Amino acid sequence: MNSSGKRSREIYLDHNATTYTREEVLAAMAPYFGERFGNASSLYHIGQDSKEALERSRASVASLLGARPREIVFTSGGTESDNLAIRGALKASGKRMDECSVVTSVIEHPAVLETCRSLEEDGVSVGWLECGRDGIVKLEKLEELIGPDTVVVSVMLANNETGVIQPVTDIARALEGTDILLHVDAVQGVGKIPVDVSELGVDMLSLSGHKFYGPKGIGALYIRTGTPVEAVYTGAAHEFSMRPGTENIPAIVGMSKACEISRAGLTGEMERIGKLRERMEKGILECIDEVMIVGAGSPRVPNTSSVVIGRVEGEAVVLNMSVLGFAISSGSACSTGKGGVSHVISSLGLEPRFANGAIRVSLGIRNTEEEVDAFVEELGTVVKRLRDMSPVS
Ligand code: PLP
Repeated sequence: MNSSGKRSREIYLDHNATTYTREEVLAAMAPYFGERFGNASSLYHIGQDSKEALERSRASVASLLGARPREIVFTSGGTESDNLAIRGALKASGKRMDECSVVTSVIEHPAVLETCRSLEEDGVSVGWLECGRDGIVKLEKLEELIGPDTVVVSVMLANNETGVIQPVTDIARALEGTDILLHVDAVQGVGKIPVDVSELGVDMLSLSGHKFYGPKGIGALYIRTGTPVEAVYTGAAHEFSMRPGTENIPAIVGMSKACEISRAGLTGEMERIGKLRERMEKGILECIDEVMIVGAGSPRVPNTSSVVIGRVEGEAVVLNMSVLGFAISSGSACSTGKGGVSHVISSLGLEPRFANGAIRVSLGIRNTEEEVDAFVEELGTVVKRLRDMSPVS
């Protein structure tokens, strides 16, 4: 640590947990914390100024997704969007809970997983899609799991721990000609790969600002025109009566700026980050033995690497790397503190010596080759030290 309390080295490699806010995003937001503070529902001029900012932002978000502005509902983030999609679809079905079924996968983020578990307790029947060792959800059982009671299928676009891209278009095809809605949690996809709601064939799609260099506490749910969904909160008629509450204009403006920047620069940025990941994974495989990259042969978002290291504890690696100034995670950031192996890693059915050794490295726009090389070198040293200390090695 130096005199200002900062570590001499701080290398952030956990962008799937959250990202810093881009300078341009901060600059776009600033006036809406200051003189442009109006409530977008007010009829006088500063209110209408906010209303204009709101609708401009809606158009930017829609444009990134290939959607219409009217199809974007702003929420407080990915978790709320997921809840609104699933609970709102069940509500709109008009059926009793014990007459409904939902299909999801075992590798979803807790925002979907726990929502489905909670619905299960309320009587909803939930069908769970398993995951293969390649990190891809197995669709063989989909036909079996869906039926006349199924209201919504919810599967993520890219997994937050492995980065593996899920077969969403295949699911959309399988649901064609049915009334079953398809919701996709694209929180880890937006800003990392092109996301087009029509190409994917989805009815609803969740995104979250803080995963792609926008602010925290803001997200959106895309709802295809005509999709039967009802608000889950009661209140005033904001957001087309889908999500009551005074709109968070600074955050909405910030997220829409992040969408615009992503739209313009995604290909170049992700190509560079993809090369960095390749360099890092090659280095890791060369300098550590008994190591696996989850989903290495599967389509993945370019920034994420789930590295499973034999004969070490992922948590110990994370803590040791933190002391050396590297921020990585041993699983989903949202579930840290719970202990145990992450549900995603468990679902892969790895051999016992690998089961506890998962770390997640997720790169971002400011990372450099030098940082990645330093990370690989220190990781090799830490793993060797931990293995040397282990009584069972
Ligand atoms: N879905 C996925 C796949 C995520 O990775 C996350 C956050 O890590 C969420 C949902 C929750 O998003 P938020 O933090 O905006 O509520």
